[in-house]
Order: sequence, then structure tokens, then C-alpha cells
Amino acid sequence: MQRVGAPPCIAIVGGGISGLSAAHHLARRRPDLRVILIERARRLGGKIVTERTDGFVVEGGPDSFLSSKPRGVGLARELGIEDRLQGTDESRRRTWVMSNGRLHPLPEGLSGLVPSRLEPLLESDLFSTAGKERLLEEPRVPVRTGEEDESVASFISRRFGSEVYDRMIEPLMAGIYAGDGRQLSLAATFPQLRRLELEYGSLTAGIRTNALPVPTQTRPGFLTPIGGTAEIVEALLRTIPDVEILAGSGVRSLGERGDEFVLRLEDDSQVSAAAVIVATPAHVAGELMAELDSAMAEALGAIPHVSSATVSLAFPSTKVPRALEGYGYVVPCQEGRAVLASTWSSSKFHHRAPEGWTLVRVFIGRSGMDHALESTDAHLVELARAEVADVLNCREAPLFQRVFRWVRGMPQYTMGHLERVDRLVERARHHPGLFVAGNYLQGVGLPDCIASGERAAEAALLQLDSAVLQPTRRDADRR
Ligand SMILES: Cc1cc2nc3c(=O)[nH]c(=O)nc-3n(C[C@H](O)[C@H](O)[C@H](O)COP(=O)(O)OP(=O)(O)OC[C@H]3O[C@@H](n4cnc5c(N)ncnc54)[C@H](O)[C@@H]3O)c2cc1C
Repeated sequence: MQRVGAPPCIAIVGGGISGLSAAHHLARRRPDLRVILIERARRLGGKIVTERTDGFVVEGGPDSFLSSKPRGVGLARELGIEDRLQGTDESRRRTWVMSNGRLHPLPEGLSGLVPSRLEPLLESDLFSTAGKERLLEEPRVPVRTGEEDESVASFISRRFGSEVYDRMIEPLMAGIYAGDGRQLSLAATFPQLRRLELEYGSLTAGIRTNALPVPTQTRPGFLTPIGGTAEIVEALLRTIPDVEILAGSGVRSLGERGDEFVLRLEDDSQVSAAAVIVATPAHVAGELMAELDSAMAEALGAIPHVSSATVSLAFPSTKVPRALEGYGYVVPCQEGRAVLASTWSSSKFHHRAPEGWTLVRVFIGRSGMDHALESTDAHLVELARAEVADVLNCREAPLFQRVFRWVRGMPQYTMGHLERVDRLVERARHHPGLFVAGNYLQGVGLPDCIASGERAAEAALLQLDSAVLQPTRRDADRR
């Protein structure tokens, strides 16, 4: 029975953007509630890491978010930092794709992985004549019948031919998921493409009827705070002064005792709560829930993850003139490199490097090639420098180098992902008061994670309100 007058407690496990967004939502909606956020690391923000040194803004994880997804800008507005957001530098708007070791301009007009105009593809030297002829056959490719899911690779190759997939779509998609398109589920990643096929009979026909949003020049596709993505975390922390933050000791396990949840921490302390939002990576959530619900633990543990690293290097701009010609490039898997992509950070956004300096970021590790991550930081820097030497023709020692590793950092929405998530949500109903949030549910991007944290927080509030009618959950106490 809840103590009379004592506010019920909601515990949040994980202080990445998902967990912090949940805390922010709870603090805004119900300041009377006691909220405890438990984070294993001393630092909050999870994959959001920004280092600011000598005028450089170095991102370790995400560097921006999609402007088309509402909760990125929406949260920035609520946090009072909307005016700090900047878009990509439109004067340098160009992305490159590697083919046979050389960079080619990415054809313009892509929307949700599909070309909104075919002309730029037909004019591109990225594709062979045969590849372009196959592309033009797309309207005559029969619609696949049946309900079952298909991989992204199979779908794009079936509709546009394997060249368009291998040389353009695969590296773009890998840039989002670091994943293998032969494994990734179309239904879980780009369901709008299948809808287009079903509705219009072909993607080309769908595109002709303007069924896809065409990228505009008026609003940049990606936004980021001037001081880096960590500004979002800093602003979030300012808005939750009453949330009790326990940082530096993770949750070891999660159990139920009567009508309350008991969280056992790595420092052997315990937290009990009426509701829990688990906002850790899926594989950690699976481990935490092993004792509570083996089916949930199994579904969470079955979500594969890929490891990657980013290496940031700073050079005098005169030594890397090519890096001033766009935002960077993506590398198709068939190039056989461990490097997935490289962003020319200071060309993509203003305020990333002091005048006269260029910041380059190299992404290493992709599905099937994440063994590259087993090597030392020094080796990763060597790999990144070799890439810069090869592509940008710069053999200069960098002013500095920064390595960030993301072990099992990216969940893979593989075939059957939606069913696994359904199973999870269904099992969670057997534990009223237990909710999950994170990048393995409805999208890996920051706006998706923000929405996921907010959704879990709202569900927890609903649950607590309904539990008031049956006052059985006890309030929280750290012992
Ligand atoms: C290299 C890279 C680049 C990316 N680039 C972009 C981008 O440009 N734009 C974009 O939108 N998205 C990008 N993403 C994706 C996005 O950054 C992530 O999906 C998102 O930040 C995940 O947030 P989260 O809060 O769900 O998880 P996390 O950030 O992983 O947070 C989970 C937290 O849980 C904590 N934790 C773990 N175990 C425990 C435990 N036992 N007890 C307590 N706490 C625990 C962790 O320490 C961590 O702080 C990128 C990801 C990577 C790896």
C-alpha cells in the first residue's frame, strides 16, 4: 500500500537521450512525482558526447538530427535552445560516394533512400549503362504479392537492379545503421517504400505523383546545436533539477517484490519504485530482465548490434582542400574497406573548427567487419590517417586525434524485428509499471529516441494514475 502523502516513484535506468527525455517529460508533466534516474557511467548523455577544445567541437557519436522528425526540434524548443540550432552549410551541400576507390558525387534529390527524380541517376557516372537501363525498367517490375517481410537489399535490387543497391543505397543505409542490407528488414526500416510499391505499382510511378517529400533548399535536412549535440543533454539536465540522478553505478538486475520493482545496483544498494522505465541498449535491458521475465530477456537479447568507432582528426585547411568540397562521403561494402564513411565535419557545419582548420571524422566498423574494432586506438588512428592520405591526399600529422568506440552501439533492425518488438511490448503488459525506451524500438535517430522516452514516460504516468484507484504499489526508497 502506498504511504499516505508520499509521492510514488518512477525509476529510469539509463541516462542517454531516451532516459533523459523520459525524465524531462515526467518533470514537466508531474513535478510532484519522485523520479530517480540511474546511470552506469559518471557522465550523462550516453552516445551523445561532444568535446570542445581550442575552438574545435568534436562529436564522438551523433553530430546532428533529422529536421523532418518532429521531436528533435520540438524538444529543442521546449528546452529553450531552438535558436542555438544550425543547419548544414548549404553552400557546401554535396555528398560523395566511393566507387573503385574514387569519389563520385551522390546523385541529388534522394528522399527516404529513393530518388525523387531519376534524371540525376541517369546522368551520374556512378552507374554503368547496363545499370541505368535496368533502373529504367523499374515501372515494369511486377509488384511482389504476399505479406511477408523482405530485406532492404532484396527490395531495392528487385525494383532498381543490384547496381543501384550496391553502389548507392547500400552505403547510404549503412551510414544510418552500420548494417548489412541483406539482413535489415524493409518493414522495420523503410516501410514507406513497400507502401509506395503497393499503392502505385512502382516506386517510379509513386515518385512521379510526388508521393515522397522532395528535399527542399529552404530547410536543411539536418540540424545541430552550435556547441554540439551535448548542448541538448546540458539543457535537459537544467530542466530536471528535482530528478534524483544516481550516476556512476549501474543497475545489475531488476526484480519484483510484491507490488513494487526492486532495482539492484552494482554498488550493492537497492532502489524500489512503483514504475520503471528501462532506457538502456537492448542487450543490457535483456540482461537486467533475465530474472523478471525470460521471454522479454530473450526478445531483447535477440536484437543484434554492430560495433563501430569514430576517429576525428584536425588538419590545417590548406592540407586538405578537397574536404572543403562537401559534407564527406560514404563507402559501399563492396569496396572492401573497414571504413564506412567520412564526414568533413567543419564543412558540414559552421563552428566545428577555428578559422584555417578542418575537422575530419572517419567512421570505422560495419556489420561483418567490426573485428577492426578489436585493435588498439593507435591502430584505429592509423587506419583513419591512411584513409585521409588515400582520399584527401594528406599525409600530414594531425593537430590532434580523438577516438570514440561504440561497442555494440548500433541495434540492427533485422528481419523479424517488428515481431520481436511486438513480443516485447506484449510481455511488458504482464508487468504493470514496466516500460522500455531506446533506439531499438521505433528508430535509431535522436528524434526517435526522444519520442521513445516520452512515450514510455507518458505510459508510466497513465499506469500510476490507474494504480491510484488500486493503491497497491509502494513508494520508493533507496536503501
Ligand atoms: C557513431 C554514432 C553516430 C550516430 N550518429 C547519429 C546522428 O548523427 N544522428 C542521429 O539522430 N543519431 C545518430 N546515432 C544514433 C543515436 O546516437 C543513438 O541511437 C542514441 O543516442 C541512443 O540513445 P539512447 O538513450 O537510446 O541510448 P544510449 O545513448 O546508449 O544510452 C543508454 C545509457 O544507458 C546506460 N546504461 C547501460 N547499462 C546500464 C545499467 N546497467 N544501468 C544504468 N545505466 C546503464 C549507458 O551508460 C548509457 O548512458 C549515432 C550513433 C552512433 C553510435
